[in-house]
Amino acid sequence: MKRVVIVGGGVTGLAAAWALRQTSAPPDIVLLEKNNRLGGCIHTEHCDGFLMEHGPDVFLTRKPEANLLCKELGLPLQKTNQDRRGVYLRHGKELYRAPEGMSGLVPGKIWPLISSPLLSLRGKLRVLAELLLPPSADDTDESVEHFFCRRFGREAYSTLIEPLLGGLAGGDASRLSIKALMPHVLSLESRYGSLLLGISRRSTQKTHSSLRSLPGGLSSLVTALESVNVGSIRLAHEVTGIKKTAEGWKVGIAEQESLQATDVILAVPAWSAARITDPVNPELNKLLQSIAYRSGTMVHLAYHRVTPSRALDAYGHLIARHETSSVAACTWSSVKLNGRAPAGGLLFRIYLRGTDLSDEAMLSQARAEMALALGITAEPLFTRIHRFPAALPQYTLGHAERVNELRNKISSCEGLFLAGNYLDGMGIPDCIRNGIHAAHSAVDRHQENPSVTLEG
Ligand SMILES: Cc1cc2nc3c(=O)[nH]c(=O)nc-3n(C[C@H](O)[C@H](O)[C@H](O)COP(=O)(O)OP(=O)(O)OC[C@H]3O[C@@H](n4cnc5c(N)ncnc54)[C@H](O)[C@@H]3O)c2cc1C
Repeated sequence: MKRVVIVGGGVTGLAAAWALRQTSAPPDIVLLEKNNRLGGCIHTEHCDGFLMEHGPDVFLTRKPEANLLCKELGLPLQKTNQDRRGVYLRHGKELYRAPEGMSGLVPGKIWPLISSPLLSLRGKLRVLAELLLPPSADDTDESVEHFFCRRFGREAYSTLIEPLLGGLAGGDASRLSIKALMPHVLSLESRYGSLLLGISRRSTQKTHSSLRSLPGGLSSLVTALESVNVGSIRLAHEVTGIKKTAEGWKVGIAEQESLQATDVILAVPAWSAARITDPVNPELNKLLQSIAYRSGTMVHLAYHRVTPSRALDAYGHLIARHETSSVAACTWSSVKLNGRAPAGGLLFRIYLRGTDLSDEAMLSQARAEMALALGITAEPLFTRIHRFPAALPQYTLGHAERVNELRNKISSCEGLFLAGNYLDGMGIPDCIRNGIHAAHSAVDRHQENPSVTLEG
């Protein structure tokens, strides 16, 4: 018998289980999740006609894996409201519309940028000079901040790009690696010499991305994966360690009997994988520990019959890091997606950096943001606070090399596979691709070594 144990019931682990189940001779599949629910970061909650996404709320279609998996599972996709596309940037008390096409951090169209009140004439000319700048001559890793300042100048970076980045990847852009975080942006520079030129060529090829969700929220994907019989799912099973045995791996579980497996897929954050692999390979453990993580908190504010001081004609607003508040972004959820609030209701989700503030302080900052940006001072119908400690990996300088090294090290641990958002992409499509890849690697190993089995 071949048994694959998957550790972690987030979207990565579930995608791995699903891919194993699709194979012609599926192994025995056991998925171990330490919490009492599946989904990991994905967590939808319904309350009084409101639909809250505590974690992700949409996925990109530029990377097709989430799209394809939903279609395969028969889940209808939901588009974001196209007539409200766009985001605002808050500087001081004012909201300024981000130039159209800026959501991918590179100005997609020149005219909206030139007409934006956010940049001075000098700043605009500096952005245009990007068309003439030569690409970087060497390929050493460069920070996101350095890269965008080099291409577009400091002014465009701090007024436009940095706040957008805060909403997407967060973290300290002077430490984040452009090569690991945005390889597609880097490739525009090497391929076209200029990002502006590259983007304009690409938009004529109609390759831009869209956002999708699911009408019942993203947890519907988790429920659908769970219901297609992806194997034996055991909740409240925390894996504490693994040990190599003659037949494969012995998986230690807190307060439970250990489990034998031919293969183990670790679909958990790097810091958790480090703890689990501690006795297996000290170098692997060290590399996993070196992946930095960032924490954040999602606050939901639900309102009934309030009138904001401005038109809600975008998906939300982002706040520059130099502003004093911990608030990084505010999604106007019931504007971005239909079905997020009942008639007469409005739903907002506010993302704050860190998890350390008390609930009271979190709420106070979130409500102050609503008052400042949208003039909403009314008491919310209800609120929710959801903390994500060490949930988002930081692709810091040298990340791509660290991941290569990790892959080298793991290849010497037969039957052990890593998957998750710290490897090569943080979005849901990346995690699905990653989980499926780990599952296929386990299956390939079985095909190459048919004698790999457990007794009984
Ligand atoms: C606030 C927030 C907003 C986001 N927004 C978006 C978005 O809009 N679009 C997008 O595409 N992506 C978004 N992301 C990123 C995306 O949601 C995550 O990268 C992805 O869901 C991670 O999935 P995962 O399965 O790899 O990890 P996780 O979701 O972290 O799941 C790992 C699971 O492993 C379990 N586990 C850990 N250790 C053990 C152990 N020892 N034993 C057993 N189980 C264990 C955990 O309990 C957890 O359930 C967002 C993330 C966050 C936090």
